[in-house]
Amino acid sequence: MVLPIVKYGHPALRQKGAQVENITPEITQLIADMMETMRDAHGIGLAAQQIGQAVQLTVIDVTGVEDRPSTMEMDGKPVTPETHMPLVLINPVVEPLDEPVAGPEGCLSFPEIYFDVVRPARVSVKAMNEKGETIAFTCGGLLARAVQHETDHLNGILYIDYLSKSAKSKLKSELDHLAYVTRREMAQR
Ligand code: ZN
Repeated sequence: MVLPIVKYGHPALRQKGAQVENITPEITQLIADMMETMRDAHGIGLAAQQIGQAVQLTVIDVTGVEDRPSTMEMDGKPVTPETHMPLVLINPVVEPLDEPVAGPEGCLSFPEIYFDVVRPARVSVKAMNEKGETIAFTCGGLLARAVQHETDHLNGILYIDYLSKSAKSKLKSELDHLAYVTRREMAQR
């Protein structure tokens, strides 16, 4: 089922997600619904907070993004990222492995708002997958950026938090408008 994606101004986006202890039928259903919602929105990642649930669960799929490559290694060996997509990351722990680089980012909770964010170029990731198994990998490129953006969501952190003061003031009217529309829609429900 495609779920509504909450937009900036919704309090769920600022909530730190609770750890997922077990893969219950509810979690399995949530994963399926989040995959469907991500694909429907043509996104490369979606965090549970974005559908209004504060849990440590995100889905990622960088398949088909040819202008922004991704790299991935498992057990120290390079693997083809596409063969591991879509990724389900539960309770992910992400550690930087390289210097930060700037790259463009958007967010399904901030329609039409894109800007550069500086993040480590490579990271290591440890998480639980949809079967409850531990998975570990390192990644770079777009995948590293997506993993960090989504893991931030799970902790209530948003990409606008990385904006410089001057960049944020330039976007202020757009952000204020988005938050206003979100709150108005919530009040009408
Ligand atoms: Zn986002």
